[in-house]
Formats: sequence, structure tokens, C-alpha cells
Amino acid sequence: MSLIVKKFGGSSVANAEKVFNVANIIIEDYKKGNDVVVVVSAQGDTTDDLIEKAREINPDGASKREMDMLLSAGEQISISLLAMAIEKLGYPVTSLLGWQAGFLTDSHYSIARIKRVDSERIKNEISKKHIVIVAGFQGINKYDDITTLGRGGSDTSAVAIAASMKADLCQIYTDVDGVYSADPRKVKGAIKMDEISYDEMLELATLGAQVLNNRSVEMAKKYNVELEVRSSLEPTVRGTIVKEITKMEKTLIKGVAKDNNVASISVVGLQDTPGVAFKIFNKLAQAKINVDIILQSVGRDGTKDITFTVPQSDVKTAVEAVDSLKDSLKFQKVTFDESVTKVSIVGAGMESNPGIASKMFEALFDAGINIHMISTSEIKISVLIDEKYADAAVSCVHDKFID
Ligand code: ADP
Ligand code: ASP
Ligand code: MG
Repeated sequence: MSLIVKKFGGSSVANAEKVFNVANIIIEDYKKGNDVVVVVSAQGDTTDDLIEKAREINPDGASKREMDMLLSAGEQISISLLAMAIEKLGYPVTSLLGWQAGFLTDSHYSIARIKRVDSERIKNEISKKHIVIVAGFQGINKYDDITTLGRGGSDTSAVAIAASMKADLCQIYTDVDGVYSADPRKVKGAIKMDEISYDEMLELATLGAQVLNNRSVEMAKKYNVELEVRSSLEPTVRGTIVKEITKMEKTLIKGVAKDNNVASISVVGLQDTPGVAFKIFNKLAQAKINVDIILQSVGRDGTKDITFTVPQSDVKTAVEAVDSLKDSLKFQKVTFDESVTKVSIVGAGMESNPGIASKMFEALFDAGINIHMISTSEIKISVLIDEKYADAAVSCVHDKFID
């Protein structure tokens, strides 16, 4: 007998037929004598629809507290419907909201971090031999307010339960049957992986492969929770295992990812003196903006430019933050460009292999795609290009490395 945590994404529970399909997958494991804790996301596009409803009321953006109150409702619908389906099929089940399941978070509404999961209630239900269905993506803070974990956060809810209850298995069911070398819906010839390391998966997820939420991978690595990504449509097909892999992989490049949620900002005509970069990036840090790629031009005639990327959703705040320094730093102007995309390759093997970067740039050159910015780390190379070439860039880079 094992304790199994299973997570089903929004597409897996999008309508009544799919809800019953998921109920049957759960019951299969339960009938074998396992304890089963299930995490579900909101049905289909429910979360997007709720965001749209909020926009109708306040186009300028509602407070994050009220947004969390609204968005958490999506998962309340799906847990109860799934529990009803399991009831209808004749099995004992209890659905729980995040707070009932013991999810305590910090107070960063809309992007809260889980502090701990007090799993007493879940354990209690399991001891009564109930299947437990938990609302993903939500928790409660010290003020007893509902919080949400950020888009795609249900993956993290599942890993948090698996970690806190020391589950034997944590399975993430979605609409593809594993992790591929690129988005299988976009790139013909994308290859499914049997396994991938936490570090590589973390990079892929952070760089835009939304098949797993990056925080969930971070947490899985920290608590050594082995994950399996599999399909709810083909539940018998083996998925991809995400785990600590120590042996050196032969494959240099594991995958290609793209992230459209980027914008570049240029501060033009800065004085070429010490402290300028510090003042700009300190201001951005105070505004809690994550800066990614940074490029500084060579100083000429005592002036220089600094260009950097931020999440597109933060571009307004970032430009305002930099603009507030105009009088003290005396730069010429700030410009921004939202029509850019970041395309990245990821693979632990690239560390000890020269020539990977030039091969990537060659693929882009052959496709006539111009690179605006480049950034590298031990296991990834990212380039910033025009958004309109995003899919073409992913395909040509994928073809170059993966056959
Ligand atoms: P869920 O609703 O189940 O959480 P998501 O839409 O968040 O599902 O994630 C699954 C989607 O991730 C797939 O439909 C696929 O298009 C996309 N995806 C992007 N990159 C990859 C990749 N490298 N491997 C597999 N799927 C990927
Ligand atoms: N329903 C939430 C979202 O759409 C959480 C999730 O799907 O994981 O982002
Ligand atoms: Mg998801």
C-alpha cells in the first residue's frame, strides 16, 4: 500500500466527461488499496475567465487580495464536481479547500509562497479510508485571508502535499504524456524524455515550458520528491520522471523553451561613472522586479546605455521606477519594447562542451533571425529576439540540436 499524490490540470477536468475520466483514474489506484490524495486546478479556462470578469469591474486592476478571493473560486468548483463524480461511482471522498487542507502561506497575494502544510485534516480523512480531493493553487495567510500561489500553482500544491506527507509517488497529469524536448503542440519532431534532472527541468520551466510550474520543481528538488508527468487522456502510458540524476547524460541539449512574457527596457545616455548600474538595479529591486538579461554598452564620450529585460507584466512599474531616477542620474531617455521573446536551450551537458553557443547562433543566422541580447549560464543559453520569429526560432534551434 502506498500514499499517492495525483494532480490534474485544468484541461484534464474541463467538462463532465473528463471529470468522470479523472474519477476513474483515481478509483483505479484506490481500489488497489492505496491512500490517494488528489490536487485539482480550475476547469479549462475558468481562471482566465475569472480574470476577465474582474477586468469588467475594474479595468485598472483590482487589489490583489480581492483577485485571490475571486480566483480561488475556480478550484472550489472543480474539487466539488470531482468529489461528486467519485461519490456517484460509489466511493468515499472528501473535498477540501486550501485552508481546510492546512496550506499556510505568506501574505504576497497572487504570488504567495507556501510556508507549511499542516496535513492533520488530510490524514484524518485518509484514516477513514476517504479519497481526498484538495483545491490546488490556494492557501491562507496569517490574517485568515485566502491567497493564491501564482499562475500554474497547483503543481506546487501537489508537491507540497507530497513533501509534507512523505508520499511514495507524486504524479502530475496533464494533456500531454510527458516532458518533451520542446512544446509538442508547437514543434514537430519534439522528443519525449523518459527522465530529466531537477536542474534541467527547473531551467526549462523557468524559461517558459509551462508543463510544470517552476516553483513546483524547485520544491521537489529541495524535498527530494520524485515527480512523474503523465497524460490523463492516456493514463496507462508511462510519463517522464523528474528526479536527481547524478550520472552524466550523453545528450548535450535536453530542450528548447520560449517565454513571451518578456520586455526589454533601455536607459539611454547615462553618465559613464561608477554607481549608475547600482542605482538603477537597486531601484528595480525595491520595486520587486526580477531583472533577467542585462547588457551595458561600451562608454563613448562619457555616456553609456544599459538595456535589460523584465517580465512583460512588470514593464510599466519598471519604466516608472527608472524614470523616477531621471533627475538624479541625468540620462537622456527610457524606452521599452514588448514585442520580444526569449528563446533558450537547456542541458547539463553543455557545461563541458564548447561550441554549443555558436551552433545555436548559426541556426538562428541560417533562419535569418537577428539576436538582440544573449545570456548564458552553466546549463542554459538564452537569446532575445523579435516576438514574430518566436516559433520559427524554437523550431530551427530544436532541429539543429535534437534529432
Ligand atoms: P495543465 O492545465 O495540466 O496544468 P498546462 O497547460 O499548464 O497544463 O501544461 C501543459 C502544456 O505544456 C502542454 O499542453 C504543452 O503544450 C505545454 N508545453 C510547453 N513546453 C512543453 C514541453 N517541453 N513538454 C511538454 N509540454 C510542454
Ligand atoms: N487555475 C490556476 C491557473 O490557471 C492554477 C493552475 O492551473 O495550476 O493558473
Ligand atoms: Mg499547468
